[in-house]
Amino acid sequence: MLSGEADLMAIKPMNCPAHVQIFNQGIKSYRDLPMRMAEFGCCHRNEPHGALHGLMRVRQMTQDDAHIFCTEEQIQSETEHFVNLLNAVYQDMGFSDVVIKLATRPENFGGTIERWDAAEKALGDALRATGHDFVIAEGEGAFYAPKLEFHLKDAIGRSWQVGTLQLDYVLPERLDATYVAEDGSRKYAVMLHRAILGTLERFIGIMIESCAGKMPMWLAPVQAVVATITSDADAYAVKVAEELRAAGLRVELDLRNEKINYKVREHSVGKVPAILVAGKREAEEGTLSVRRLGSQDQKTMALADVVKALGEEATPPDLK
Ligand code: ZN
Repeated sequence: MLSGEADLMAIKPMNCPAHVQIFNQGIKSYRDLPMRMAEFGCCHRNEPHGALHGLMRVRQMTQDDAHIFCTEEQIQSETEHFVNLLNAVYQDMGFSDVVIKLATRPENFGGTIERWDAAEKALGDALRATGHDFVIAEGEGAFYAPKLEFHLKDAIGRSWQVGTLQLDYVLPERLDATYVAEDGSRKYAVMLHRAILGTLERFIGIMIESCAGKMPMWLAPVQAVVATITSDADAYAVKVAEELRAAGLRVELDLRNEKINYKVREHSVGKVPAILVAGKREAEEGTLSVRRLGSQDQKTMALADVVKALGEEATPPDLK
C-alpha cells in the first residue's frame, strides 16, 4: 500500500507554483514576510480500481494545502506556529495520540551540509519549544530539505501520515521568489509546504473509524432527533424541532406511527447523539425525555434547558 506521502507528492506540483506566482506579484521586502497562503485544493489521481479503498483512497480528493514564505531566520517560529495550530485542530477532532517524525538528510542530498544542519535544528528546536516529543526518521527527508510528519492511528491501529511540513529551498530558486533583505541584498525566500488534515476524505475516514461512527455532537451529521410516542405530541415535537434549529442544531423529526422503542433503537443504530422523546405528558409539561447515545438512562428536562445544553455542546470548539 502506498503511504500518505506518495499522495502528497503526486498532488503538490499542481498548487505550489501558483502560490509562488502570487508571492512574486506581492512580495518586495523582508518586512512583508512571513507570507502565508492556504487553500482547499481539489485534486484527481487515477488510482487503479483495485487500489481504491473506502474513503482512505479515492480518485478525487481535497487537500488542505498551504504555503508559508519566510526568511531562513523565521523557519523555527513559523514551524512553532504551525505545530501549535495543527495540535489545536487534532485535539478538537479528538486525537491526542500523535506521532511526530523529523525526516533528516538522505544519502543523496542537494544543498550544503551547513544548511541541512541549520534546517534540521530549526525544526527540532520548534518541536522542543512547543513541548513535543518526536522521533528522528534518519535519512528519510526529501533530497532537497528535511520535513516533519504527523501520524495518527486509526481504530485498528494502522498508522496514517496526516499532517506534514516540508521545507523547500528549491522551488523559490527555480521560480525566482526573492525579497530585499534588511541589508539591501536580494535573497531567496524559504518555502514551507504544509498540510494539517492532509487529504480531507482520508481524514474523515480515520475519524469515522476512530470513533466507530459516534461523532462528537458538534460534528454529527444529525445532532438530535425529536421522536414522538403518540400523535398527540406531533405539534409539540414540531415546535421543539423549530427551537433547536433556531439554536443552530441539525435536527430531524420522527412523527411516524411506530413504537417508541423501535424509533429509539433505529436512531441509536444511526448514531444520533441525542434522542428527544415527546409524548402527551411532555407536551403538556413543556419537557422532553432525553436519551443520549451509549447510555441506557433517560432524563426529563425542560425544553429551554435542552435547547441551551445541546446548543452549547453543538458549538464547534473554535467558536467557543
Ligand atoms: Zn506545496
